[in-house]
Amino acid sequence: LIVLTGVNKHFGDLHVLRDIDLTVAKGEVVVVLGPSGSGKSTLCRAINRLETYESGSITIDGMPLPEEGAALARLRADVGMVFQAFNLFAHKTILQNVTLGPIKVRGRSKAQAEKRAIELLTRVGVEQQAHKYPAQLSGGQQQRVAIARSLAMEPKAMLFDEPTSALDPEMINEVLDVMGQLAQEGMTMIVVTHEMGFARRAADRVIFMSDGQVLEQAPPEEFFNHPTTERAKDFLGKIL
Ligand code: ATP
Ligand code: MG
Repeated sequence: LIVLTGVNKHFGDLHVLRDIDLTVAKGEVVVVLGPSGSGKSTLCRAINRLETYESGSITIDGMPLPEEGAALARLRADVGMVFQAFNLFAHKTILQNVTLGPIKVRGRSKAQAEKRAIELLTRVGVEQQAHKYPAQLSGGQQQRVAIARSLAMEPKAMLFDEPTSALDPEMINEVLDVMGQLAQEGMTMIVVTHEMGFARRAADRVIFMSDGQVLEQAPPEEFFNHPTTERAKDFLGKIL
């Protein structure tokens, strides 16, 4: 579904993505691990075309990434992204946050969009908050709304960049639970996270990045029990 071939990116002299080859199959859950600055966020952002790259190719469903205009808006709808910061529209209600994209990008009627939005808000457990504004919700609730908002676009895949790292500990699990459920339902997901429990439970494959390279790829059991590179051993030693 998502195929990266020989993708390279620099920020000035810094080579942040080095010859990245990565294929994510439909329904697969890939967890991306690696030290700070290794290029995890840049990788996600490149897939959603929030970041350009100099060489290589990225295709979604066999189609190269569109560069601009309506096609780019559709790409961002097809590949939903959830960030560390919740990025909800502060001056719109929760319901409006979730219905805006489907109405504008997918051409849904207001009634259709609202019906679907309530279903999704119910699924992530925040339907009671539909008429409130983001600032009136907890961080965990806001992040669940952000997930519902992406799902409202009927994405083919979802990218998560450290979706729980800005949350208080007691709210982390409520967000991870929603993500785990999505994974079980067969959503194609790329998840950057430091939550190793989630990686073990939900990942089909773990990718370890260091200095802009993919150093290891393995099923979680294998990666956690038998990392092959010194970098990965060192990384796991620090976090486990
Ligand atoms: P973290 O775990 O801290 O989120 P990361 O693996 O997500 O790290 P990236 O954010 O992808 O790392 O950054 C990779 C490298 O690129 C870092 O050295 C970072 O400083 C640099 N970088 C990221 N964005 C920019 C930018 N807009 N301009 C210049 N350098 C950048
Ligand atoms: Mg990052």
